[in-house]
Amino acid sequence: MFLKPRDVPQELQKLRSLDMRMRLLPEDKRYYLNLEKGFDGEVAFDAKLVELKPECLILADLLLEQNFSLFQIDTLVLFKKNIHLFEIKNFEGDFDIKADHWSLLSGEEIKNPLLQLKRSESLFRQLLHRHLKISIPIHPHLVFVNPHFTLYNATPDMPILFASQIDRFIKKLNGNSSKITQNNIQIGNQLASRHRTDSPFSRLLDYNYAQLKKGIVCAWCASWMIAGERKMLCNKCGNIEDNETAIMRHVEEFKALFPEQKITTNTIRDWCGDIVSSKKVQRVLAKNFNRVNHGKVSYYID
Ligand SMILES: [Zn+2]
Repeated sequence: MFLKPRDVPQELQKLRSLDMRMRLLPEDKRYYLNLEKGFDGEVAFDAKLVELKPECLILADLLLEQNFSLFQIDTLVLFKKNIHLFEIKNFEGDFDIKADHWSLLSGEEIKNPLLQLKRSESLFRQLLHRHLKISIPIHPHLVFVNPHFTLYNATPDMPILFASQIDRFIKKLNGNSSKITQNNIQIGNQLASRHRTDSPFSRLLDYNYAQLKKGIVCAWCASWMIAGERKMLCNKCGNIEDNETAIMRHVEEFKALFPEQKITTNTIRDWCGDIVSSKKVQRVLAKNFNRVNHGKVSYYID
């Protein structure tokens, strides 16, 4: 059971919006596509974990702090008597390990993911000891979910799971029994409540309101939608969405991209590409937010 499900990270959400509405710089685009790929890998691994039979609690995408150090955990699985910690990579291509150095076969060096895993495990263990006052075995795993990935010079003692081994790994775990206790749930909840949403790892992106293309973007296929009387329609995939849901999606998007800006009828109508009337926008805002002031100077807050 997912105690903390995997949401689309805020940064990825923002990059998706910007990529749709402006031309990203080549390095930003590459960064964005990497995030997207990493997220795909994590989601693919989530789908494998659903096959787990022993009772367990799954926490996805945690950003935790221990001793003024922030660390990220892609996935935690809590069983009754132990915890599995997963660092997930969706690498593709041929890689090589020489001593502690990881690189592409082309020679380009990359950060050693085993060191990253070790650091997370150590900080996580300290956090469990000091703050939750528990000591429970932790099993760390570096998971490569992509079947088109090869790692030369990997050895069996490394805590690595390759794509070809994941099914067998799940099967092995399914051979154990586990009954989740109230205590396990408490630990899970405490960990989830320690999750921080203000990631300092986010890349600073340069954009302004004027340069972004305005309009309603389809939630299914990321194409531009057109407005009907009560619904928005996507000509590309056939998705139909009621006005309120579409407008609210775009209010959230606007807030994420421009957290300092006030939410007004005019800004949101403009952000939606002027394809919905002021009256409709106003009705949706009035229904979902609290209005401050009246007339031309009014704006909306949560
Ligand atoms: Zn669509």
